[in-house]
Amino acid sequence: MNARNQKVALVTGASRGIGAAIAERLGHDGFTVVVNYAASAAPAEALVRKLQQAGGQALAAKADISSSADVRRLFDAAETAFGGVDVLVNNAGIMTLSSVADTDDASFDRQIAVNLKGTFNTLREAATRLRTGGRVINLSSSVVGLLQPTYAIYAATKAGVEAMTSVFAKELRGRNITVNAVAPGPTATELFFKGKPQEVIDRMTKLAPLERLGQPKDIADVVAFLAGPDAGWINGQVLRANGGVI
Ligand code: NDP
Repeated sequence: MNARNQKVALVTGASRGIGAAIAERLGHDGFTVVVNYAASAAPAEALVRKLQQAGGQALAAKADISSSADVRRLFDAAETAFGGVDVLVNNAGIMTLSSVADTDDASFDRQIAVNLKGTFNTLREAATRLRTGGRVINLSSSVVGLLQPTYAIYAATKAGVEAMTSVFAKELRGRNITVNAVAPGPTATELFFKGKPQEVIDRMTKLAPLERLGQPKDIADVVAFLAGPDAGWINGQVLRANGGVI
């Protein structure tokens, strides 16, 4: 664990997968971490204990990011516990794959609600509540470039996230806050494995010239770079982290 850096990072969807790796890495880098989750309380609390045992400060905070009221309370909880928020990582997301023809209203609406509206909800709070010198890192996806069948709705939500990233970076002019997105390729988490036959997993594992799936740590390393002191001149960008799939 590095020396504490006095900054507070709020990571949405940090109970599992990529978000948990991001929270762990930022904690290691000295950030105080707010570990948001929607349903998985036990792993979120376990991660908080791990960060605390390593000498850090952390808090688990339940909030469904698709609810603007929940997100307001999430920022309230961070401010009450730690005095403010410096880094927002919009990581929480869901993916349901189906052709346009086979996508029902509920699936469409939920992906828009969590991935697009959820990101909007946190950005809107961040617009007035993020401290000067802060960082925003949104999670997009390399599917925005790959555009494979069955990814239309999910890719559309992430294309929206990328658009909001660029616009929001400009809207924060004068605040010394950078806004960027990280767009992972196939990464070994439940979101990726769920519902995929083994032959699809094998094929996608070989997609990158580096011939492996991304690991949550691969993505956490990139987010930590963007949140850290070396990335201060990167603003309004989408950084694809995918081993070279596109
Ligand atoms: P996982 O399914 O492994 O984890 C998702 C996390 O998001 C969980 O912590 C979950 O918490 C949380 N979450 C889900 N819905 C909500 C909600 N409404 N409010 C708050 N938290 C919520 O996903 P990944 O780690 O794979 O994905 C993380 C991000 O990376 C997503 O934005 C995803 O789109 C993106 N991504 C992933 C890729 C991959 O291949 N894995 C590739 C490209 C992008 P809980 O369990 O409490 O619901």
